[in-house]
Amino acid sequence: MSRYLNNKYVSLEEYVPGEQPKDMRYVKLNTNESPFPPSERVVEAIDSEAVKQLKLYSDPDASELREKIAGLFGYEKENVFVSNGSDDILNFSFMAFCGRGEHSVVFPDISYGFYKVYAELHGAEYTQIPLREDFSIDPEDYVGIGKNIVIANPNAPTGLALSRAAIERIVASNPDNLVLIDEAYVDFGAESAVGLVNKYDNLMVVRTFSKSYSLAGARLGFAIASESLISDLNKIKFSTNPYNINRLSMIAGCRAIEDNAYYMNNCKIIARTRRNVTEELRALGFEVLDSRANFIFARTPDISGEELYSELKKRGVLIRHFKTERIKDFNRITIGTDDEMNVFLRSVKEILGRI
Ligand code: PMP
Repeated sequence: MSRYLNNKYVSLEEYVPGEQPKDMRYVKLNTNESPFPPSERVVEAIDSEAVKQLKLYSDPDASELREKIAGLFGYEKENVFVSNGSDDILNFSFMAFCGRGEHSVVFPDISYGFYKVYAELHGAEYTQIPLREDFSIDPEDYVGIGKNIVIANPNAPTGLALSRAAIERIVASNPDNLVLIDEAYVDFGAESAVGLVNKYDNLMVVRTFSKSYSLAGARLGFAIASESLISDLNKIKFSTNPYNINRLSMIAGCRAIEDNAYYMNNCKIIARTRRNVTEELRALGFEVLDSRANFIFARTPDISGEELYSELKKRGVLIRHFKTERIKDFNRITIGTDDEMNVFLRSVKEILGRI
C-alpha cells in the first residue's frame, strides 16, 4: 500500500477470485466456467474483419446487443443494460442505489463474496442475514424488510434456489426498495424472475454470459429492469466508462444470443451430469446440497474440506475451497464434462481409499 491511498480504502478487504493457475494443466472445476466452447457462430464472427474494427470505439449504447437480449426475454431495449461482466453491473448497482439509512442493503451471510466488498467500497450500510441451518435462504427474512435487497438465485456457493413465487413475495413486499436478483446460474435449473420485471419497477434481474453462454473470458453481463432503473445504471456507466464493452465481446454476445438453443442444450447436459455426480458423491457418503447451478457444494465426514481440496490439486483437479468458518467443511465443485467429472470422482475415491 502506498502512502497516497485515499484513507477510505485503507481497510477495504478486496475480493479474492478463484485460482487461474499457470503451473500445469488442471481439470479445472473451481470457477464455474462452462466446459463447452462458444458456439460456431461466435467463433466465426471474431474474424480478421472484426479484429480490424478494433481501431474504432465500440458502440456506447450497445444497441444491437441490447436489442437481441430484449428480444430473447420479450422486453424493450430500454429495459436492458449491458456491461463488462455482471460484476460490473453489481458494482454499478451498489454505487447507484446503496448507501446509508433508507438506502442500506441486506444480503445473505453466505453468498457471493463480492456483495460485501461492493457495499464496503461504496460506503453502504449492510446487514448479512444468516442462512437457515440447512443453508437455504428463508424468504420470510426479507419480506417487508424496507431495505435494498441483493439475492443470488440460485445462491452461490450453495447452489440452492428460491422459487419465483418466493422472489415475488419479497419484491412485492418492499415496493420502496430495490430488489436485485443475481441470476448468474439460473439457466442450469432454477426459476427466473425476469418475467416479473414488467410488473414491479423495483426489481432488477442481473445475468451473465460467463456461465451458460461459455463466454467468461469475454466479460459480458446484463441487467433487465424497468426503464427508470436502467437509466440510473446508464447514469453511472456514462459517468465512468461509456465504452465498457469492447467490440469483440459485443459481437460475441450478439452471435451467442442467436445460438441460444445450443447454449440451453449445454445447460441441460450440465444439469444431467450434476445429477449423476451428486448421486455418486452421496453414495460415497458425501452430503451434497440440492444444486440448481453448474456446481455442487459438498462435504464428507471422512476428510476435511481443505484436505480434500489440496489432495485433489496434487492430482491435477482444481476445486474451490472457502475458509469461512460455517462452510469450511465444504467444497464447491464446478460441473465439467462427463470425462472431467469421471477424473474428479476417480481421484476422490483414490483419496478416500475406496479404489
Ligand atoms: N454473481 C455470482 C453469484 C457469481 O458467482 C459470479 C461469478 N463469480 C458473478 C456474479 C460474476 O460473474 P461475471 O462478472 O463473470 O459476469
